[in-house]
Amino acid sequence: MPELAISRIYSKVFQSSIVAIGITDLTGNYIMVNPAWCAFMGYSEEEALKLNVRDVTVAADRNRSDRSMKKLTDGSVSSIRIKRQYKRKDGKVFWAELHVAPLLDDDGQIDGVIGMLVNIDRQVRAEKKQKELNKKLDIMARHDSLTGLYNRRSMERILDREQKRAKRYCRGLAVAIADIDDFKKINDTYGHQCGDMVLKHLAEFFRKWIRDTDSVGRWGGEEFLFVFAETDCKGAQTVAERVRKSLSKELFKCCGYSFQLSITIGISYRAQQATLEEMIEEADKALYQGKTSGKNQVVCFGD
Ligand code: GH3
Ligand code: MG
Ligand code: MG
Repeated sequence: MPELAISRIYSKVFQSSIVAIGITDLTGNYIMVNPAWCAFMGYSEEEALKLNVRDVTVAADRNRSDRSMKKLTDGSVSSIRIKRQYKRKDGKVFWAELHVAPLLDDDGQIDGVIGMLVNIDRQVRAEKKQKELNKKLDIMARHDSLTGLYNRRSMERILDREQKRAKRYCRGLAVAIADIDDFKKINDTYGHQCGDMVLKHLAEFFRKWIRDTDSVGRWGGEEFLFVFAETDCKGAQTVAERVRKSLSKELFKCCGYSFQLSITIGISYRAQQATLEEMIEEADKALYQGKTSGKNQVVCFGD
């Protein structure tokens, strides 16, 4: 085919391409852009030819963009394909998939860079949204919606993990179940909404009182489960007693009422050989013992 015809075809491809094409010199100044490039970026061709790559690069990407430009122009890489953001003339930022490669002159010397980009903004934003949604769903699946504490399923998982750890390192493990005393009366006297507020306050209270290495979750309606890692019976009792005591001194204010609360706590401590079910059962039994012998106390199973 005659050279003129080929060059006309190249020109047509360049002009009608739906892929944005921008050609720069070695310093990143644009020397040629196609209509798709102008449409993506919001600049006219005349305006574009006064720009440098840096002008359409978001601040956070500038250093990386400079490094890529250097690698392409010194010949250390033959092409780069990246997902990056571009800044349009109107200030809007969009995601694009960019393919860049050096352009060679007739002597085989690099004398420019050609960049081809496809707008993938919708796709990237949809992926980000989905990721955020998945994160939220994951949090919802692991936490109790009222108190924000771990839910029962999460606590079972934590218990399982801690028990395996206790076994492997021959350490003790303590679990405690705290149950609000006469919570039904609170609901009956001040209303269910106030009861819900109490559960929320209590969750905050427990969070403040336990160590980072311990866990607390909502085990049931007005029952909370604590897992004390690497703690002996005495240690668990001390923490539980401290929580119980300080709670009984607290004045709860909600829905225009103020009142005091108390909890009863049942503890099970085992050095290695118990199953999780056994430990929960023992903590439950200790709790029951505390409830039948006056409430507002800590009882350790077997004591
Ligand atoms: P005890 O001292 O023996 O534990 O008595 P109690 O009244 O605390 O125990 P009971 O089992 O008789 O009642 C528990 C109450 O907890 C009844 C139930 O309506 C209430 N409850 C459970 N879940 C929730 C909740 O999410 N919100 C509110 N407001 N109340 C709840
Ligand atoms: Mg209960
Ligand atoms: Mg109760």
